Amino acid sequence: MFCVECGAEGPTYQGLCARDFLKKHPVVAPPDFLDLDRCTSCGSFRLASGWSKIDRELALAGLLPENIRKLPPWERVTFTHVAREEDANNLSLTVKALGRFEALQSVQDFRVRVRIKPTLCDSCQKQRSRYFEGVLQVRGDGRELTPEEVRGVRTFVLARVDRSGDAGAFISRIEDVHGGLDFYLSTNALGKTLAREVSESFGGSVSSSPKLFGQKEGREVYRVTSLVRLGAFHVGDVVRHKGALAEVTSVRPFVVLRDLATGEARRFKPKDVRTARRVDAERFEAKIERLESGQVVAIHPESEEARPVRPRPEDRTARAVVVWTPEGAYLSRLPPGPSKA
Ligand SMILES: [Zn+2]
Ligand SMILES: [Zn+2]
Repeated sequence: MFCVECGAEGPTYQGLCARDFLKKHPVVAPPDFLDLDRCTSCGSFRLASGWSKIDRELALAGLLPENIRKLPPWERVTFTHVAREEDANNLSLTVKALGRFEALQSVQDFRVRVRIKPTLCDSCQKQRSRYFEGVLQVRGDGRELTPEEVRGVRTFVLARVDRSGDAGAFISRIEDVHGGLDFYLSTNALGKTLAREVSESFGGSVSSSPKLFGQKEGREVYRVTSLVRLGAFHVGDVVRHKGALAEVTSVRPFVVLRDLATGEARRFKPKDVRTARRVDAERFEAKIERLESGQVVAIHPESEEARPVRPRPEDRTARAVVVWTPEGAYLSRLPPGPSKA
């Protein structure tokens, strides 16, 4: 037999001498990198067959044949490798792939980077979703949370836990309850920290109640429920407090109510303004006009309705931010924006 490529005499494989056959047929098409999922909780690795508790060398030995494409006509391709750790999550593998075809064998050397992906295996995920110690409850103070607050608090808590970088800190589950949110958390400390952060960011009060829940290794285990009550008001709300109309200019650490008729601001502890009620109002920038009678009015930008404005604006003011209520128009200290009960 003659090789069709070089004409050499001797045994041929698909018309080629051994040398030309090996040159023409690589054993595998190696990728630049391979990803390997590893459970951060139990250390299992994910292979095609599922999660298994094996050591890293065995996982790599399973990963290579599962993920590296073998090229025909090579058969019974086997891999050997040497792994070098570049850092905790990156390995550089030097691999030999051995292919067989009829009486021939071919060895192909290549390098591949293995990226270890920290994640949670199915059973650890399940275990976590059942396990909790701390509970964080977020409610409104004498009211339901608004949909914006529910969204905002949820996003805030998820981001905090995500960024904590503590593998032991996790959220088991989140429940939407009537008017609020419950977070089930891996530790009591996490619940307390989150309660403080939520109340600082959204304005509210924190209380906590421990409940004995069992014994672990001879010591008593408590489940602590931390309750955050978000203040009744937001900055910009218009409220009636003890007969006077006021706008809320701050909610923490004190609630500051600015009397709309007099312009005078006073601060209160949140519990001292529980009886205040929100009032339907709009806040916008309006044209200010002086009538011949001497009265100063604000003009609604859409309806063009004129209403006397209090307190009286300084002379020459042509535009001002006003609070527009059924009772009249008032000069505001806040930027224009929606304010609805
Ligand atoms: Zn040849
Ligand atoms: Zn696991």
